[in-house]
Amino acid sequence: ISKLQTYFLSHSLQAKMSKPVQARRLEGLDKNIWVEFVKLAATYSKVNLGQGFPDFPAPDFLTEALSRALGGGNHMLHQYTRAFGHPPLVKVLAQFFGKLLGRELDPMTNVMVTVGAYQALFCCFQALVDEGDEVIIIEPFFDCYESMVKMAGGTPVFVPLRPNPPKDGKLMSSADWQLDPAELASKFSERTKAIVLNSPNNPLGKVFSRGELGLIAELCVKHDVLCISDEVYEWLVYDGKQHIRIASLQGMWDRTVVVGSAGKTFSATGWKVGWVVGPDRLLQHLRTVHQNSVYHCATIAQEAVAQGFQRELTLYGKPESYFIQLPKELQQKRDWLVQSLDDVGMKPIIPEGTYFLVADISQFKSDVPDVPNSDEPYDYRFTKWMVKNKGLAAIPLSAFYSEAHKNNYTNFIRFCFAKEEATLKAANDILQKWKQEKTSS
Ligand code: PMP
Repeated sequence: ISKLQTYFLSHSLQAKMSKPVQARRLEGLDKNIWVEFVKLAATYSKVNLGQGFPDFPAPDFLTEALSRALGGGNHMLHQYTRAFGHPPLVKVLAQFFGKLLGRELDPMTNVMVTVGAYQALFCCFQALVDEGDEVIIIEPFFDCYESMVKMAGGTPVFVPLRPNPPKDGKLMSSADWQLDPAELASKFSERTKAIVLNSPNNPLGKVFSRGELGLIAELCVKHDVLCISDEVYEWLVYDGKQHIRIASLQGMWDRTVVVGSAGKTFSATGWKVGWVVGPDRLLQHLRTVHQNSVYHCATIAQEAVAQGFQRELTLYGKPESYFIQLPKELQQKRDWLVQSLDDVGMKPIIPEGTYFLVADISQFKSDVPDVPNSDEPYDYRFTKWMVKNKGLAAIPLSAFYSEAHKNNYTNFIRFCFAKEEATLKAANDILQKWKQEKTSS
């Protein structure tokens, strides 16, 4: 290699390295709670109640539908389908959600199928949020909302659910976490483009009441604000509570995009089939994002999900319906975990819905002491300590808060109870053993 070649080689390399490679819109978004905690759980956990996925099987009718789609002789199910959703799936979704929302839906313009609810959310933010727009996010929130708003050039504006512990010493419920109406109203301005609503809420399990939804709806109408309504846990509601769809409230259909997930609906998170339902005036822009990024989602999975919904449409409201059976089973699992945690003094906040419950760890400071002025929030250190020393994986609650508010919520962790009875028993064994060690030391 000649001197000249060396000269050109080093100069061309330097030239390449002097340009920033990262797009500005990704600044500050490189750290991700899931990447870090999923890895920790994989390395150390004996019982993983961290990430939100069931460890029990998806229902037979769904896996059988997939087998039929594979072996049924229609080889076209292995090819591309319609970009905005496989026709049988958008048709049944339009029928199903039309019934729930009490309006006629056009499968071609009011429904779009996405790669999980994640991509549905991505399409919403890319299609509807501009540089300088503000988007209101209710804390605690599913963490990707903030990053997605920022990637679209928008500014997230946070408003917290504020806990009001019951005075009678009873366990808190997710219903005790509420918006302050004046505080919420103060966040709406000329610059507000949209609000993100997630009911039932991950991580608290809060199911917003009609009154709370009415307040949000009123503010959206008054300020001409859109609503991105993440309803992936719509069927997972307990104690006879009712999930109310904000799109069904007055003035809201025309300004709401409803996001759903077959992963959560049919306990098959790995399938990554999601959807949006909404008015064409909004969905037409989501279609532009979708057709220029992902284009469409796996045909065969869409075919099987379509059959799953067909079954549920026929059984709607009947005891055999999966949408009736699943929440019943999950409520039982919730109650087991509530009892296990309460028994060891890790006070659970009883969730009204979802896969999750949040527990108070403030009585565990003798196991994992506070480090004043540490860069790492207490709940992060606690969760890492717990998975490494006890083999039990959970997720710190402050991961679901903005940087500015994180430090107010570092005494809670989130558990997922969408698990087999044996998994929840194993978690109980770990907690009981821990309790015994505490009392004997
Ligand atoms: N929204 C919320 C509130 C969620 O909890 C999740 C999954 N954890 C999603 C959206 C993403 O759903 P999917 O797996 O269908 O992409």
